[in-house]
Amino acid sequence: MRKLALSRREFIAGLGAGGGTLLLYALMGGTGSTEALLRPPGAQDENAFLARCLRCQACVRACLTACLEPAPVEFGASKLWTPRFVPRLAKCEFELCDRACAKACPVNALQDIPVDRIKLGIAQIDKPKCLAWEQGLLCLVCQECCTYLAITQDRKSRPHVDANKCVGCGACENICIADSAAIRVLSLSSASSPPGSTS
Ligand code: SF4
Ligand code: SF4
Ligand code: SF4
Repeated sequence: MRKLALSRREFIAGLGAGGGTLLLYALMGGTGSTEALLRPPGAQDENAFLARCLRCQACVRACLTACLEPAPVEFGASKLWTPRFVPRLAKCEFELCDRACAKACPVNALQDIPVDRIKLGIAQIDKPKCLAWEQGLLCLVCQECCTYLAITQDRKSRPHVDANKCVGCGACENICIADSAAIRVLSLSSASSPPGSTS
């Protein structure tokens, strides 16, 4: 028993030390990634969202597809534990879920905006990773799953994204059969193919 009690103390102390290290890292800015985060629908302006969000995880818990997670420490102190849309976890079904995330938000940091105004980001193809672009294989699983008809194919059966039609739902990134997703939804500020272009 004595040994077990000591182990528990050591375990808790270890947790404290680990948490302290994480917090210190976050306060130093967490320099691991400068990529803009994908937000749940209705987050609107990033600075206003950061100022309002309580980091309470109500939206993360409410999400019907479990496509949200708390932002980890590598995105920096200001974004730590804010909700992040991760298409590799699941598609955002904003047309079907009645925006459960926004309705759960106690401070209206996520606004329940009309469906036709929702654009979470823009999908972009990482051609060196894509089986169709790099290896000439017939794939196009991404095109098949896109209910917004935002992915077209060329004469060599390679996918292209229409940035105007893409709403950033993440279905393509979620289903892409390449090891680490050859098609990824980027935030509107990060996408190199702005609305109006095809890549
Ligand atoms: S709109 Fe629906 S599926 Fe998308 S993040 Fe919110 S709760 Fe989840
Ligand atoms: S994210 Fe992918 S599946 Fe969703 S609309 Fe854009 S191209 Fe289509
Ligand atoms: S599913 Fe992935 S690998 Fe297949 S064509 Fe689309 S982007 Fe390329």
